[in-house]
Amino acid sequence: MPVLTRLIPSPVVVDIRAGALNDLASVLADQRICSATGKLAVAISGGSGAVLRAQLEPSLPNAEWFEVGGGTLDDAIKLADAMKKGRYDAVVGLGGGKIIDCAKFAAARVGLPLVAVATNLSHDGLCSPVATLDNDAGRGSYGVPTPIAVVIDLDVIREAPVRFVRSGIGDALSNISAIRDWELAARERGEDIDGLAAAMARQAGEAVLRHPGGVGDDGFLQVLAEGLVLTGIAMSVSGDSRPASGACHEINHAFDLLFPKRAASHGEQCGLGAAFAMHLRGAREESAFMAEVLRRHGLPVLPEEIGFTVDEFVQVVEYAPQTRPGRYTILEHLSLNTDQIRDAYADYAKAIGS
Ligand SMILES: [Zn+2]
Repeated sequence: MPVLTRLIPSPVVVDIRAGALNDLASVLADQRICSATGKLAVAISGGSGAVLRAQLEPSLPNAEWFEVGGGTLDDAIKLADAMKKGRYDAVVGLGGGKIIDCAKFAAARVGLPLVAVATNLSHDGLCSPVATLDNDAGRGSYGVPTPIAVVIDLDVIREAPVRFVRSGIGDALSNISAIRDWELAARERGEDIDGLAAAMARQAGEAVLRHPGGVGDDGFLQVLAEGLVLTGIAMSVSGDSRPASGACHEINHAFDLLFPKRAASHGEQCGLGAAFAMHLRGAREESAFMAEVLRRHGLPVLPEEIGFTVDEFVQVVEYAPQTRPGRYTILEHLSLNTDQIRDAYADYAKAIGS
């Protein structure tokens, strides 16, 4: 009689609240993370990380600090090489998305657990099993273990530029569209849906969608941060990015690839992509509601709001399926030609009341 349920790779500590950073030392002293005599390798940015370092250094006498250059594969490899020279119990990635991605990759490379201490909420990668790094071919996604602990201090999040929180909102909301793409792929292609991963990612998106608060209040930031963490774990559960990435993210990747110099933030592009994809699949009311929420939080719902013409957006949507070969979404399903995309966009713009 089979009785074992599956085990979910998940952090042993998740600490999301105002003031969490003040207790970082006690989180790190958890024996499951660092032994009493163990050492920590802390990865931090040289620029904006300096203030945090000055604040935290006295409370972490067992830490060695590593400045990370940027968000490239080379930066991550350099970090791993530097850490190889010492003996550490764990790596702490302290900063924004780039620092955490670098630290995730480097920790995996030297076989150490990673503690993610996120200083902004720009995307759902802070607790995901993926490190996104720029390489010679553009941008790559690298599989890594799920972080052993996640710490998010809402006081720090509120101090970061508001565009980072907005980006996280767009990324979280896009889960709703991504799950609909997954369901479509299951219907049309017989793809398996992981119901638990879908539930976690969808609830994260719905909670952000329906929360009445805004970027300035802790109640909203708490729900957003938890949603992004749960989305990352949903990806660990399913073993791929399906719970959080469909047509919305294909559109985002197409913006990045076709217009690398002009691209907007990840979440701005994913949110716009999600609202448009919801419209394409005939969910006009849901699309309009999503657009209304995006607008309320100061996110774009039309390409011109991030500096792109309608023609450029049509080009982006047409190119989008090529960014994720093998992924079946509403874009692959409808397989619209240029004129059809232009018509669909005009209809979308009208429906959301531009
Ligand atoms: Zn994303």
